[in-house]
Amino acid sequence: MEIRDRIFIDGRWVKPSSDDLIDVIDSDTEEIFAKVARGTAADANRAVEAAKTAFESWARTSADERGKYLLRINEGILARMNEMSETISKEVGTPLGLSQFIQVSIPASTFSDMSTRASGYEFEETIGNSRVVKEPRGVVAAITPWNYPLHQIAAKVAPALLAGCTIVLKPADLAPVNAYILADIIEEVGLPAGVFNLVTGPGPEIGEAMVTHLDTDMISFTGSTVVGSRIAELAAKDIKRVALELGGKSATVLLEDVFDGGELQAKAISDALFWCYLNSGQTCIAQTRLLVPRSKLSEIEDRVAEETAGYTIGSPFEPTNRVGPLVSKKQQDRVKEYIRIGKEEGAKLLTGGDEMPEHLDRGYYVKPTVFSEVDQNMRIAQEEIFGPVLSVIAYNNERDAIDIANNSSYGLSGSVWSSDNDHAIEIAKQIRTGQVEINGGMFNPTAPFGGYKKSGYGRELGKYGLEDFLEIKSLQLP
Ligand code: NDP
Repeated sequence: MEIRDRIFIDGRWVKPSSDDLIDVIDSDTEEIFAKVARGTAADANRAVEAAKTAFESWARTSADERGKYLLRINEGILARMNEMSETISKEVGTPLGLSQFIQVSIPASTFSDMSTRASGYEFEETIGNSRVVKEPRGVVAAITPWNYPLHQIAAKVAPALLAGCTIVLKPADLAPVNAYILADIIEEVGLPAGVFNLVTGPGPEIGEAMVTHLDTDMISFTGSTVVGSRIAELAAKDIKRVALELGGKSATVLLEDVFDGGELQAKAISDALFWCYLNSGQTCIAQTRLLVPRSKLSEIEDRVAEETAGYTIGSPFEPTNRVGPLVSKKQQDRVKEYIRIGKEEGAKLLTGGDEMPEHLDRGYYVKPTVFSEVDQNMRIAQEEIFGPVLSVIAYNNERDAIDIANNSSYGLSGSVWSSDNDHAIEIAKQIRTGQVEINGGMFNPTAPFGGYKKSGYGRELGKYGLEDFLEIKSLQLP
């Protein structure tokens, strides 16, 4: 069993102030496969102080120099691809093939993408008689979730480092081992002491200590809306910068003309299911509401049920499986509870359900589940379930479809399908979310990523992600 009983502060692996350890559970076998340090608020404070001390000299290094470190971190992650992806598949339950791509390659590319911005980004510009300089915000507290653990870490650490910030990272207790591997890599590439610090332990204790520490300048958080709101409240007292990437309840909108024949209909339904069941639905941009013309409802029900049957469920290490377990027993119980709520609310259960898949007797599994005849105001259509549960909702006309898509306290993502691309874009512009996929347009890890409404604020990834970590100063020249 892997034991990581140290935390990474000021360039060294140090003993935390408590001897307690956190069990890390394999979501398929339900067995403990690793233990990590349970740090305390005192450790978080130590880490912030190290980051504060390191900031002065790190902020003065050139962007080129910082970019070179990022490239070496990218290479270090790719060199440990197998270890990293297997670890995340155990922690989170992501099927291994997907893990290699989404959980490891994409975050690795975030580091290389940021390294290219060292020369490609204008850290200075001239406006009239002013030289506008972009400077690092300072010490960043990065608090990350378990669903795409390395991706969320990379989306914060890579731009923060390039900007010249120093960092204290607190990863989720459910999936912390990948963050230890990253810290190993960061140690190997020789990042100056204190620039990156890792503390593991309970969010309410460590996370809040990081957020409230007077030397923390910015908090970058991904996770639940409840915790995001708590962080914003704590940070407001000292007017700290906050970036929040929170939950979602995204809609796939199939416009009437998708059903004019041809392949578009099949492609649209496949894509909608992919984005709903990806990572067992534990995806903030999961498209968990499928909006379809009322006249096509029964036809779509048949196709959705049939295609869902093709989502084989089981061990993430069996290549034919497309759906793995959920991350934890708590998450499994929560998703099963939502399935019961859906039945009680009177939605029509098309396929799936809250029972364990027949061929499995352990692991935190929930079958891909589809409800139809869902009313847009039901809890299953409003609340983030974070499991493989789809709500099919019928609409009467395009205006109705847009209103239903926008009838959500969240605003993270969505998609629009139409045989007319331009028309799909017109509809997408009326959807109040941070990103909308048009006719299967691919996720772009260099485009800005973030939410409207209760999905948060700030943008991650690419140029806009870098700018979240920069202050802007005007030097008025004579
Ligand atoms: P949380 O928001 O509780 O956890 C995310 C991170 O915040 C973790 O590192 C956690 O630490 C930390 N944290 C928890 N409480 C505090 C606090 N008071 N102050 C500072 N940091 C804190 O998400 P959960 O893991 O509990 O998941 C619950 C639900 O949240 C999911 O079912 C899903 O709906 C949503 N969610 C959304 C995500 C997204 O990508 N938008 C990602 C994850 C969850 P620790 O691990 O120690 O608790």
